[in-house]
Amino acid sequence: MASPSLRSPSSPHWGAEPVGIARTVLGDRPTSELGAVNYHEHLFQVSPVLAGDELDDERLSSIEAGLLRASGFSTMIDATPLGLGRRADAIARISIETGLHVIASTGAHREAHYPDGHWIRELDENSLAALFTADIDSGMDGTEVRAGQIKTGIGYWSISMFERRVLAAAATAHRSTGVPIMVHLEHGSAALEVVNLLAADGVSSDAVVLAHVDRNPDPVLHAELAAAGAYLGYDGFARSKIYPDSVLIDCAARAIELGAGERIVIGGDVARRTRYIAYGGMPGLQYLGDRILPRLGAALGGPAIQLITVANPARLLSIRA
Ligand SMILES: [Zn+2]
Repeated sequence: MASPSLRSPSSPHWGAEPVGIARTVLGDRPTSELGAVNYHEHLFQVSPVLAGDELDDERLSSIEAGLLRASGFSTMIDATPLGLGRRADAIARISIETGLHVIASTGAHREAHYPDGHWIRELDENSLAALFTADIDSGMDGTEVRAGQIKTGIGYWSISMFERRVLAAAATAHRSTGVPIMVHLEHGSAALEVVNLLAADGVSSDAVVLAHVDRNPDPVLHAELAAAGAYLGYDGFARSKIYPDSVLIDCAARAIELGAGERIVIGGDVARRTRYIAYGGMPGLQYLGDRILPRLGAALGGPAIQLITVANPARLLSIRA
């Protein structure tokens, strides 16, 4: 089961952090109530890029969310944006059933997830910004369930015209709503470049979390990104066919030595039905809490785990004034 350090606040930083407000699917909550946060999973996701790996069964996704909760996390960010099978009403029901706080996403993924002619690719920047803002202010998909972050994505060392529009619209929606922006980085590439691009659009770098930055396990780069203010999304455990999880644990340890401790957040981004226990796959959403957090705790120490799982995501998720 989960490391005891998950449940026992011990960091000298804990308590010194100002309490913010995060927008969960069941309403706005003080960030002090979020507890340990898994910064990146998916309860529902349907994409042509992940054919055969659809997450589309409410009962099974709810069981999987329960496994995540039992592994020690009390909050997760659902990173499925518009047009990919997101189900606002079902996410809210799962949150009620499991007791897991969920922060849902508006925004759009990288272009490859949307086939030619997909409605979202037809929207101009202003229409995208209006849609993102309405999801955050009023509710998603005709419900009153509101999004608490804006998802964006880019390609491998590339930003398409659509992805550029989404980033600009995300910046506009962020400036109006104050919720953070998540950027999907393909293989961890173009991290500093996209942080700089968003900064030019008026987004403070400390409102940006870089998903999959650990696919490029370069602790010096990570320290540079952290120094720029951006949050580092470590979510590649049990994902690489090339290197073991120890590479990511060692990378986190070195990045922390280099000053990135207040910027790392962790998630599983398991994201595929063939890897969800409830759908008949493995290793499941509990892998992070059960298998990785104890190892991270041994490598980094309890105070660092408290930062990574509690204090850092609380700061990230706080709605900016
Ligand atoms: Zn994801």
